[in-house]
Amino acid sequence: MRLRNKPWAEEFINEHQDVILPNPEQHKGNWAAVFGNDHPIHIEVGTGKGQFVLGMALQNPDINYIGIELYDSVIVCALERIVEADKPANLRLLKVNGAKLQEYFATGDVSRVYLNFSDPWPKTRHAKRRLTHEGFLAIYEDVLIEQGEIHFKTDNRGLFEYSLMSMNAYGMALNYVSLDLHVNMPEDNVMTEYEEKFSAKGQPIYRLECQFK
Ligand code: SAM
Repeated sequence: MRLRNKPWAEEFINEHQDVILPNPEQHKGNWAAVFGNDHPIHIEVGTGKGQFVLGMALQNPDINYIGIELYDSVIVCALERIVEADKPANLRLLKVNGAKLQEYFATGDVSRVYLNFSDPWPKTRHAKRRLTHEGFLAIYEDVLIEQGEIHFKTDNRGLFEYSLMSMNAYGMALNYVSLDLHVNMPEDNVMTEYEEKFSAKGQPIYRLECQFK
């Protein structure tokens, strides 16, 4: 649970079950009922403190967003932001493991997966934990629509190179690659917390878009 330093957090999470859904497996195959519309659903796995997913939800009201984060102590920060922003109707959070997406989403429930500044797990023996490992790609493929996309940003060159190879070996199409996103920053780019931190230090931000065939 990791809430030792935030004793108020559990109560805060319980108070806002309209944002952090307590039983997400109940919505598998029926997310339209949660949002009250059948707009496309984009998920971010490893959403952290929620700056990206909230920014995207405000920028794109016709897309439904779900931020997925493993740790209570982190997701509660995302929840605070979302409550302060008056709980946009097109945004929800799930406090679950991205390795278990198939418990919460049926095939075709998700239209796009975002991965932002995922933990690099640099040791080879931990490769399976990388969110762009072939095991995770198979999970994303299973919950995505046909020809669904993954959009990935990172500051970590090693993880970026690994991800390009992993996606290529999986047979995915690479539609976009940038080795320095902020040189020609797209107008609609929404920065994550980590993106702000690393780009402020002058580090390049790597970005790719890839698609299942
Ligand atoms: N995306 C945010 C950003 O760019 O600022 C946070 C990046 S942080 C380095 C990675 C986050 O992914 C952490 O909050 C971590 O708890 C979460 N995470 C790692 N593995 C996960 C998994 N299997 N399922 C859900 N969240 C995960």
